[in-house]
Amino acid sequence: MEDMLRALQGTTIASTRPPAFIKLAPNDDGSSLPAAFFEHPDTYIKHVGPDGRIRSWGFYPYIPRGQQGAGHEDIPYPMMRKMMHQMTYAPLNRSSQLLRPEDQFMNTILARRKRELKQVNLGDLTRRDYVLRIHMPVRNFHAHILTDYRDGTQYGPKVVQAISFCLRSLILFQNSGAIDMMHIDASGYDFLNEDDYCVAHVMDKVGDACQYEYDLGDHFRHDIIVERIVPLEESYGRVQVLGGSGICPMENGKGNDTWAKHIETLTKSGTPAARRGLLSEIYSMPNYTDRGWNKASKFDPDYFDLAEMTQAVMAALGTKLSYSPGAKTFKVPFVPEALLGPLSASKRKTTREVTMSPGDSFGFYEELKKDGRDSRRATACAACGNPNDLKACSGCGQRFYCGQACQKAHWKSTHKQECAMAKKQNASG
Ligand SMILES: [Zn+2]
Ligand SMILES: [Zn+2]
Repeated sequence: MEDMLRALQGTTIASTRPPAFIKLAPNDDGSSLPAAFFEHPDTYIKHVGPDGRIRSWGFYPYIPRGQQGAGHEDIPYPMMRKMMHQMTYAPLNRSSQLLRPEDQFMNTILARRKRELKQVNLGDLTRRDYVLRIHMPVRNFHAHILTDYRDGTQYGPKVVQAISFCLRSLILFQNSGAIDMMHIDASGYDFLNEDDYCVAHVMDKVGDACQYEYDLGDHFRHDIIVERIVPLEESYGRVQVLGGSGICPMENGKGNDTWAKHIETLTKSGTPAARRGLLSEIYSMPNYTDRGWNKASKFDPDYFDLAEMTQAVMAALGTKLSYSPGAKTFKVPFVPEALLGPLSASKRKTTREVTMSPGDSFGFYEELKKDGRDSRRATACAACGNPNDLKACSGCGQRFYCGQACQKAHWKSTHKQECAMAKKQNASG
């Protein structure tokens, strides 16, 4: 701990002059806040990377690949700051009227960006289909952030704040409720609610790119690139998987670079023992355990099955497990919270979905499943993914469809049973 504190003091960014906008509590000298926080949020100069892209609202210098760990991308500094000051500021300190400096600064940034985005005229872009190149769909596991490279604006899962009292400790959960939200300070502090915006707000011409970061602790970072924008008369609104390559990296895989090293070990440089060890690690990860692959099967990093992927995307569109604040959380029974029920407080009706963790670990995953319907603005046709002209199922009112053909197809494949169950639930509650 003392070593960490010394390391922290060694990287202090706090300027000797007082901050221009934020207010610091008397015992907080602003150590390890980005230098931008000592400027005014309306006029601070954003850091631009050597590639011309802006990340994390422009707070941090862009750190080139291979030199990570040299700055604020490192988890310990924001974490240490959080530990040192979390009882100093509201809302954890009930007598304090002062919000965290991070929140004082971010609230201003977020409010301004919201106002600017309201002014944007998207024309017919909201109804056009996009051909995008994206990677790695993993549902409700870790939190994610989308970054607009043009100005560093970040979008993420809906805000839910919940406080869990467990014995003598008090934990504040922000945003999605995913466990890796504790690293949000290292990823840009806060984001806009992604449900309120569409692709055209972030990318409006061919060649535009944004970053999709999955897992705020491990940082699986991807570029999403606009390959083509389809003319309005050819835009059908369907979600379609056009192609792909490469199998999804393992959960908790420590980001792109580590995954690349793993692939290298498995296909080229690894000793048989190293490969065996790595394979059993990969197959024990939650996104692999349910694939029905056994440990003896040959691992193929280039594996991609278009039909399988299409089916997975369609299944995801047709489920309510994608309820964004209901991220999966891993629980071990001897942790007191496990007995208290869901940590993510929500006014909406939700059901706990518990998946036992297979294999040698004895915890379980908990995920919140929504019982009510999604808001029309943040949903899509349950059969094809089209977000346009949606009408709710007249039986249960919980599923949306873009037309009769989709409703019929989904009724046959899934919704007949689901609808009856939803109706029963509606009647009882
Ligand atoms: Zn449809
Ligand atoms: Zn229905």
